Amino acid sequence: MNAIGIFGGTFDPIHIGHLRTCVELREYLQLEEMHMIPCARPAHREQPGISAIHRLAMLCRAIEGEPGLRADDRELRRKGLSYTVDTLQELRHEKGDDCPLYLCVGMDSLANLDSWQRWQELTAFAHLVVVARPGWQLPKTGPVANWLEDKLAADMPLLKQTPAGLVLIREMTLLPVSSTKLRQDLTAGHSVRYLVPDAALDYINQHHLYQKDVP
Ligand code: ATP
Repeated sequence: MNAIGIFGGTFDPIHIGHLRTCVELREYLQLEEMHMIPCARPAHREQPGISAIHRLAMLCRAIEGEPGLRADDRELRRKGLSYTVDTLQELRHEKGDDCPLYLCVGMDSLANLDSWQRWQELTAFAHLVVVARPGWQLPKTGPVANWLEDKLAADMPLLKQTPAGLVLIREMTLLPVSSTKLRQDLTAGHSVRYLVPDAALDYINQHHLYQKDVP
């Protein structure tokens, strides 16, 4: 059964850290496709200054021609706040009960997982793959730590045996890039060349995004 990965973010803007991680996870998890899903209306952070339409357009340009990465606009098409659990539920419905689904998140997200909508249901629909920098630490106490107890898988082959339900920590060296720093650099008129794919950067320039006087 062809496995599907899910990598969400505000992508404000998309950068090489996101892209490299998706390519590596796709190979490691042997995914047919990694769905990169712009969060239209985040529930847990300030609303992005750049519209979801622009953020999706930058993503589409950034991954053009890369087989296996797909820009998925489902959270733009839904009304209300963008909850990951709704996205997983939709994908499970579309792909059927047997398709392995892997929700990929950073360790920072795992630490705050209990603030997510219906967070305990996430693994009813997908496996959770947590990308961790070397030296990572799992939450040791609290609701997330308790919840993890019977879900942690030691390695990938275990995940292959079921379509959902387990949590895997995947250690990776992440490129030191963040959208926050890129926004600051762009607004200050500094170059972000080679940190953002050229096609996305062209889009930023054409639409005058992240400039001082343009909201
Ligand atoms: P911001 O600085 O605005 O918070 P960000 O660069 O962290 O943005 P997001 O769109 O918020 O990007 O993140 C989407 C996903 O990408 C999250 O799971 C996050 O952990 C991950 N991510 C962020 N930066 C990197 C990076 N440098 N390498 C790999 N993954 C990253």
